[in-house]
Amino acid sequence: MARKRKDIAFPEKGTPRDQVLREMEAARDDDAKWKDGKSFAYVYYATDEHYDFLKKATNMYFSENALSPMAFPSLKKFESEVTSMIADMLGGDRKTYGSLTTGGTESNLMTVKAHREWAKEKRPTPHPELLVPISAHQSFDKAAHYFGLEIKKVPWDADFRTHAEAMKEAITENTIMIVGSAVEYSRGMVDPIKELGEIAQEYKVGFHVDGCLGGFMLPWVKKLGYPIPDFDMSVPGVTSMSCDIHKYGYGPKGSSSIFYTSERLWKHQFFASVDSPCGAYASPTMTGTRGGGVIAGAWATVKSLGEDGYLRLAKDAMDATKKLTAAIDAMPDLKVLGKPDMTVFAFTARDPAAINIYAVGDELQRRGWILDRLQFPPALHLIVTPPQVKVVDRFIADLGECVAHAKANPGSVAEGAALYGLLATFPDRANLKKVVLDFLADQYKA
Ligand SMILES: *Cc1c(COP(=O)(O)O)cnc(C)c1O
Repeated sequence: MARKRKDIAFPEKGTPRDQVLREMEAARDDDAKWKDGKSFAYVYYATDEHYDFLKKATNMYFSENALSPMAFPSLKKFESEVTSMIADMLGGDRKTYGSLTTGGTESNLMTVKAHREWAKEKRPTPHPELLVPISAHQSFDKAAHYFGLEIKKVPWDADFRTHAEAMKEAITENTIMIVGSAVEYSRGMVDPIKELGEIAQEYKVGFHVDGCLGGFMLPWVKKLGYPIPDFDMSVPGVTSMSCDIHKYGYGPKGSSSIFYTSERLWKHQFFASVDSPCGAYASPTMTGTRGGGVIAGAWATVKSLGEDGYLRLAKDAMDATKKLTAAIDAMPDLKVLGKPDMTVFAFTARDPAAINIYAVGDELQRRGWILDRLQFPPALHLIVTPPQVKVVDRFIADLGECVAHAKANPGSVAEGAALYGLLATFPDRANLKKVVLDFLADQYKA
């Protein structure tokens, strides 16, 4: 093994714990300051009280392993109870079964795997394909890549809407499942789930609703009186739905859930190996050892917040979102993309020739605001959570100044904007993939 720097060679002697902790504290200096509401991505924070409670609940099961339901019946109880509670929130019934996973990606991987096994039995085809809207999360590309399936994408219309009719036309005898999102990540819109459900039934294909982002928000937004189209497992034709607990569920990082509208399909997710000298082995999801802390923490979160708690949090986030989208749409140089259904949205420049929106993102970042960058068209992305409620006015004021700055300095495009601009316009897309993978490797090299 090549040792590049002395301080990262394997430590010969242990370091005192308090010194290690001090080093960790110092290392965080440059990290996103999410608690102050300046990060519109990555962290979903409810309240200080919830955070302290969640740490206690998770720590209580810090060492336990849910790999064996026999060894830790309490974790089995937490998992089956919390999946039942979430299924109830998402229009499930007595035939709904689900599992906890480590994240939305694992949830989506699992349903693709389950549908692949189901198709082998019920709808065999030599070239199984997933059919997804262009806005579907990248975890479906990952699933196709991991599981050896094809993936086809259906473009959206000029208003960033997925058209059920276009999805229908793209179905072939190789299609084993279609996907709709509630909501999709980029514009925060609900796909036409009811229409897609009808199509899935007509063509006898699986239909997954990706509720990773919206699953824990849409039910409350609907209860608050906002018009939300049908999106959950009560829609005929839906065969599975995913829902992240570590996003708007405000659960511990590493918690998500996946549900099936039949026990049979759920079991197609499982894996068993019986001939190893290590013993018979069976596991429901991708991972082997499953940390007990996240399972206990997920249960404790839902139990402690309850419908009234989630409704309060949803109302705050929705109020802040409405204020933000109204303010942005009122700015002569900016516009919100599409018609966001909940607390996630993106905005871009009305005239891309006059303003480089990525340069606006860089200028915001210089002031400590963290926003995701989107492409096609270039845009900035916001996920609104409770900590943002207090900083809405400050953000709007800063945004106005950053737009003015970008407008006044069209030539001076910072490094970040140049990079994102390059990514979006790089002509050789196959080679771009290699460039991005090299970049990723560089990020993790010490
Ligand atoms: C976040 C997200 C996922 C993936 O979830 P991870 O927890 O990041 O793995 C999938 N779908 C949608 C719509 C998402 O927003």
